Amino acid sequence: TPSFLPQAYLQGSFLPFEQAQISIATHALHYGTAVLGGIRSLPSPSISNQILLFRLDAHCQRLSNSAKFLGYSITSDFLKSTLLEFVYLNQPNYPFYLRPLIYTSGLGIAPRLHEIEKDFLIYGLSVGSNLFAPEVRCRISSWCRQEDRSQPLRGKLSASYIASALAKTEAVNSGFDEAIMMNSQGKISEASGMNLFLVRNGELITPSFDQDILEGITRDSIITIASDLGISVRERPIDKSELFIADEAFLCGTAAQISSILSIENYSFPEQRPMTEMLRDRLKAVMEDREPEYSHWVTKVQLP
Ligand code: PMP
Repeated sequence: TPSFLPQAYLQGSFLPFEQAQISIATHALHYGTAVLGGIRSLPSPSISNQILLFRLDAHCQRLSNSAKFLGYSITSDFLKSTLLEFVYLNQPNYPFYLRPLIYTSGLGIAPRLHEIEKDFLIYGLSVGSNLFAPEVRCRISSWCRQEDRSQPLRGKLSASYIASALAKTEAVNSGFDEAIMMNSQGKISEASGMNLFLVRNGELITPSFDQDILEGITRDSIITIASDLGISVRERPIDKSELFIADEAFLCGTAAQISSILSIENYSFPEQRPMTEMLRDRLKAVMEDREPEYSHWVTKVQLP
């Protein structure tokens, strides 16, 4: 079991995590009618009592956009100020993960988004390195990533995670660590909870937004960091066969940051991964606010 931050936020107020409880009849539990966020936070390595939150504005904007699909209007500013208050109240001095969730909180039966109450909650948990591994062996999933005409993939919808869960467990049960999903067109989309990059001839290649991917914030950060270094980044469809001939491949997301792909099915990648290692170090430095150029991506919370 993970360790949770002591204070949670539920139905408009802060309260101890153990007391933040909801009914077994909660609508979202039955129909997956919820949208979520996942934000990473760490103590500043240089300034005492300072907590750093990586790309908080982008996360709040994506969550506010996701909420629109539930028919729930909540501003990015409100999300941000509540999350900051949450951090301030909890005062964690270790790396943690913030989990905001917007969900249909009414007790009514029947799937719908109208005439059902909604709520916004937050809790936090400490992130051990076991949340996502720094190196993974992947398989191609037999489950497809959903397509945008069956559910809005621009949002981070709880319901989308049934495919992720099926794909992940299928991968683990067949001796792999992680699953790479194709989309309904047979092009590479993403992993169960991370976006994918390939390196070929010194260029970075990642599936474009039209490939049914989540609009990952780590993905966006890597594209910006690499482009600023003069590395060419191509966002385009990727065929399955291209995976096997890449020089390097990695997954990225808030929890793992960058996770090297050691192999995909029977194909192993070379042991030297210079691009992956360079980007991993650079991203870590950016998150720790050691790169002044990207300081605007890091929200600092000074505790007393
Ligand atoms: N794809 C999926 C399905 C995810 O759940 C996540 C994690 N939020 C990502 C990609 C990576 O997104 P981000 O970098 O914003 O965490």
